[in-house]
This record gives sequence, C-alpha cells and structure tokens, in this order.
Amino acid sequence: MNYQKLMEQAMQQQQQQQQQQNMGGHPLAGLDLNAATDITCDNCGSMKFHITFLLKRVSSLVSPTGEELTIPIQTFSCQSCDWINRDFVEVGTNANEPSK
Ligand SMILES: [Zn+2]
Repeated sequence: MNYQKLMEQAMQQQQQQQQQQNMGGHPLAGLDLNAATDITCDNCGSMKFHITFLLKRVSSLVSPTGEELTIPIQTFSCQSCDWINRDFVEVGTNANEPSK
C-alpha cells in the first residue's frame, strides 16, 4: 500500500468522523451500506422480510412468577415463503416445520 492511498484513507476516516459528529453521533451515521451484506431467505433467497411475532407459552411450573406466561418474540420472516432464518430465532422454534 503506497503513501498516497494511506493519506486518502486517513482523510476519508476524518470526514466520516466529522459526519458522525454532525449527525449527533448516531451509531449508523456515516455507515457505508455498500460494505454491508444482504441477508437473504435461507429457503427461497428472497431479500424481503417482514416483522413476525412468535409466541411462547411458559408453563406455571417453570415461570418465575408462578403464573402461566405468554411471551412474544419479535423476529423476521420471509415475505415470499414465510420462512424464518435460523439466525433470527434466538430460542428453539419449530416455526418452519410444515403444519400437519
Ligand atoms: Zn423465502
């Protein structure tokens, strides 16, 4: 890597830092989305998702409050085929299993 490239990179970093300060230090400010990876559906490859809630029921036997709980878990499902990527599910789910 030559000296001029290093200088250009340093200048760019400085500009990005200034932009971040101008935008109130928002964590996404100045983020280059061209460097980000598109997430696609593991099942059909679609890039479009919508917000989905999974509901978990916690039995009163294991609930910390001693009462039955229903816990909504927000995740994303494919807009085309409703598949939920495994990466999006923090807890075990069989939401992708075909309904019988
Ligand atoms: Zn899909």
